[in-house]
Amino acid sequence: MKKEDPILILGAGTFGLSTAYHFAKAGFSNITVLEKSTAVPPVDSAGNDLNKIIRAEYEDPFYAELALQAIEAWKTPLFAPYYHETGYLLANSRAAPEKAKKTLLKSLGSIQQHPAFRGKISPIEKREDVTKVAPVFDGPMEWKGYFNRFAGYAHAADALTAVYSACCALGVKFCVGDAVASLTYSATRDRCTGAATASGKTYTASVTVLALGAALATVLPDVGKQVAANAWPVAHIQLTPAEAQKLHGIPVTYARDLGFFFEPDRRTNLLKLCPSGAGYTNFSSSGGGASVPPDFNGFITPADEDKIRRLLRETLPGLAERPLVNKHMCWCADTADSEYIIDFVPGKHGLIVASGDSGHAFKMLPIAGKWIVELAQAGQQEKRRWRWKPNQDAGGDVSWRVGRPVDLKDVPLAVRSKL
Ligand SMILES: Cc1cc2nc3c(=O)[nH]c(=O)nc-3n(C[C@H](O)[C@H](O)[C@H](O)COP(=O)(O)OP(=O)(O)OC[C@H]3O[C@@H](n4cnc5c(N)ncnc54)[C@H](O)[C@@H]3O)c2cc1C
Repeated sequence: MKKEDPILILGAGTFGLSTAYHFAKAGFSNITVLEKSTAVPPVDSAGNDLNKIIRAEYEDPFYAELALQAIEAWKTPLFAPYYHETGYLLANSRAAPEKAKKTLLKSLGSIQQHPAFRGKISPIEKREDVTKVAPVFDGPMEWKGYFNRFAGYAHAADALTAVYSACCALGVKFCVGDAVASLTYSATRDRCTGAATASGKTYTASVTVLALGAALATVLPDVGKQVAANAWPVAHIQLTPAEAQKLHGIPVTYARDLGFFFEPDRRTNLLKLCPSGAGYTNFSSSGGGASVPPDFNGFITPADEDKIRRLLRETLPGLAERPLVNKHMCWCADTADSEYIIDFVPGKHGLIVASGDSGHAFKMLPIAGKWIVELAQAGQQEKRRWRWKPNQDAGGDVSWRVGRPVDLKDVPLAVRSKL
């Protein structure tokens, strides 16, 4: 590739911004990002959130190593203001299913012997082990798990804004508020030449990167079922400044069978909570057989609300009956084996997919774009696990999640619509 080759990035979410940043940092001078939302960070980006967990434990040591590289990068000047190493409390309640217990042990196994975690992990076997790391928690918490000091969270929306500003400073052009409607191809259809937007504008490029997250299949139907849009519910409690103050510095707290929460946002005093589960697919609408995000996402189900309240009764019972605000579904792109897809689309020169985040890619924001730049320069994906996966169907059971995904068609219309 030549440094002046036009590069088009579709989507300004986690993968898209990171890709733009790394291309620009590598000296590429003609980079354009197309984003359907009217601002960056985009409202529809799964990464545009108060906070995301930054941790290196994984069932698979390959991702544990990548996450360690990412944590190192979170401590560099561009990212450090948004990374908070509050520690990570991972446990199971007494009622947790066997699967959740096994996953926890595998996660622990991936870091326990690693030199980076020496002296950073302590077991959680009784209530006092929890209150030692989170003295403000006053629920029953009969939990088993561990506390990892070498982890924490990132202020996600602010980190995306910082990467966006860095891209602008490096000369990346952003065109927002105009959805990509289709890709354009050479007459022989074996080369992608760019993209066309809903308003009729066309953009040409030597390399086009699809970083459309859960919406990938809406622009690239050929992706088929190897990617399925999968959503997780998010809700918040509005705390008073005094209540928020009391919770400052708590670790990211994750009961694998109930859900997780973070220290409250210092600007808004919002406490973000996510119930655990296998998420929701949406195979039922106009996705042509694929699961794609629906138009309306401002809801969570009563079952998830109940899980959040159970999590609070275990940890902070005084908040368990408080109203939940800013409830919504957040859509990711799942693959069957939770491996990313970072590859050229077979038979389409110049077209790269950066997707299949499987709900675990935000932590990679500082480094993910480098993988895409390397792929574009190498011309083929050497890592087998990140290749195009035509023979896999996403949307089923995932080894590290509790339960099986529910399709939105099985959620009453009164819950999932504006009715
Ligand atoms: C509730 C929840 C909690 C999570 N917690 C964590 C965590 O703790 N740690 C972690 O590492 N990860 C976490 N994740 C996962 C993480 O957010 C995702 O892996 C990551 O954000 C995916 O990045 P992406 O670039 O693939 O997609 P996105 O960030 O969603 O970006 C896709 C972009 O494409 C745009 N787009 C879509 N269609 C079009 C179109 N037609 N034209 C133009 N633009 C378009 C969208 O507007 C969006 O901006 C969580 C996800 C959820 C939902």
